[in-house]
Amino acid sequence: MDLLYEFGPATKERMAELLNQKKNVRSIPSPHTLSALLSKNPQIVAIGSEEVENLVGIKAKHLIYDINRKLIQSKQDITYTRTLTIMTPQQKEVAKKCSCGRVRVFPDGYNTCLHCLRTSE
Ligand SMILES: [Zn+2]
Repeated sequence: MDLLYEFGPATKERMAELLNQKKNVRSIPSPHTLSALLSKNPQIVAIGSEEVENLVGIKAKHLIYDINRKLIQSKQDITYTRTLTIMTPQQKEVAKKCSCGRVRVFPDGYNTCLHCLRTSE
């Protein structure tokens, strides 16, 4: 997530590369794991694809992912759009169930989740 926020749209191959360069990452997920993670995460959307030719000349389409920028407009918004499964224990403690059914950390001073807040704007 933070990666996409910082570097902008990327394919999962590029993300794996970026993760490799970061020294604070303990385990680097394989592209396969990454794509599973990405498809499950509502914070991330596929915005297109690029054609990549591999070493033996076979062209393959790689999806380009980005954070859902309609929803996530500041770094703080990343917290507010986290699903229960990717929340930190502290976030789980303050998370509430919204009327839409999503369990989220609500933005300060609001009684709805960020999804509802953004879609009602
Ligand atoms: Zn909601």
